Amino acid sequence: MQEEKKQGLGTLCVQAGYSPKNGEPRVLPIVQSTTYKYDSSKQMGDLFDLKDTGYFYTRLANPTNDAVAAKITALEGGEAGILTSSGQAATFYALLNILKAGDHIVASSAIYGGSYNLIAHTMADLGIESTFVEPDVTLEELNLAFKENTKVVFGESLANPSLKILDIETFAKAAHEHGVPLVVDNTFPTPIFLRPFEFGADIVTHSTTKYMNGFANSVGGAVIDSGNFDWSLYGDKFKGLTQPDETYHGVVFTETFGRKAYITKLTTTLMRDLGSIPSPQNSFYLGVGLETLHLRMPRHFENAKAVAEYLKGHDKISWVNFSALPDDSQHDLAQKYLPNGSCGVISFGVKGGREAATRFMDALQLAAVVTHVADSRTCVLHPASTTHRQMNDEELEKAGVSPDLIRMSVGIEDKEDILLDIAQALEQV
Ligand SMILES: *Cc1c(COP(=O)(O)O)cnc(C)c1O
Repeated sequence: MQEEKKQGLGTLCVQAGYSPKNGEPRVLPIVQSTTYKYDSSKQMGDLFDLKDTGYFYTRLANPTNDAVAAKITALEGGEAGILTSSGQAATFYALLNILKAGDHIVASSAIYGGSYNLIAHTMADLGIESTFVEPDVTLEELNLAFKENTKVVFGESLANPSLKILDIETFAKAAHEHGVPLVVDNTFPTPIFLRPFEFGADIVTHSTTKYMNGFANSVGGAVIDSGNFDWSLYGDKFKGLTQPDETYHGVVFTETFGRKAYITKLTTTLMRDLGSIPSPQNSFYLGVGLETLHLRMPRHFENAKAVAEYLKGHDKISWVNFSALPDDSQHDLAQKYLPNGSCGVISFGVKGGREAATRFMDALQLAAVVTHVADSRTCVLHPASTTHRQMNDEELEKAGVSPDLIRMSVGIEDKEDILLDIAQALEQV
């Protein structure tokens, strides 16, 4: 048997995470149980003290959830991973696992609206401050954003909805020079098109709600650790990982769990205290979706490219963003980070601004107007009046979202049908 890491991404999509033993179910079982039975209290006690490994309560761990987390971990080339009940929970836990009041985050400004809210507002209320920088800043500028109390750098590999590409290598370099890890939200490209660990990122997060699930049937998230960041080199900075945890009788996560310290801490402290575990049923759907990720992503990309090229030549369209277009502002970064494709999401402006955008969207028939993005069905959204409505014009500008921006998430239908729908809708503008 080949080692998992050496197998191709398609094989990992189909097979990784679950290997049934003789006579066991071929398909990953849904372990719909909150709890697990033991023969003695002593065994159970050892589990609570982290002296032994095993399942005891699904808020901390569940076999179905773990198998799907292992599949995503294999796809990202990571060391350990955990599923969360949403992408938002994944982002929050990935950061909170190493932050506390008084700390500081350096974040890319081109991130999902929910992540921006979380960092700029909710985490600020918890006493964690932040500085936002452009996703393509120079190393010199980026270095200026760091403070004495900076503990983490956060960015989005391919931003939703601005489609700006994070210069991961530069961000990783700056983070490491300051002795902190880089966390990258890799929701849009998925590991099929980009694996941030290969460019120096330390931790990856996902909203699995999107392409990973693929069919819009359940909300979920994941946090994957590369295991590469050496927390113990900076003992004072990451006390939660490098000093005794009294709630586990003095366990030191880095000493006991080595490269799995970060995910073990997240599981045994944040999940224990805050919850946000997915239901095993939802993880099952996610696992099924992942089995075709390697087939769906290239189709999303191919269809989106056809739509982008069509719109680019249309006289009612003012601009189109899609990094595969040769004159796109992100094209050079795409050559480096997304050489084989990006995703199915494009953004564009219809001439006539906000009003024309609405008329165009209402005239679409195959493509639906929904808040969702990145599933098998083509859909459209106007972020300025929906997902990003809490931002003022200046904040919108910084996040790369203009008021006339339409985000189209191109699905995996036949591209001829998608193009016909767009053509008839534009005729009505
Ligand atoms: C949707 C999304 C999130 C939030 O995920 P939920 O599953 O909706 O909580 C985070 N990051 C990105 C890039 C997203 O697209």
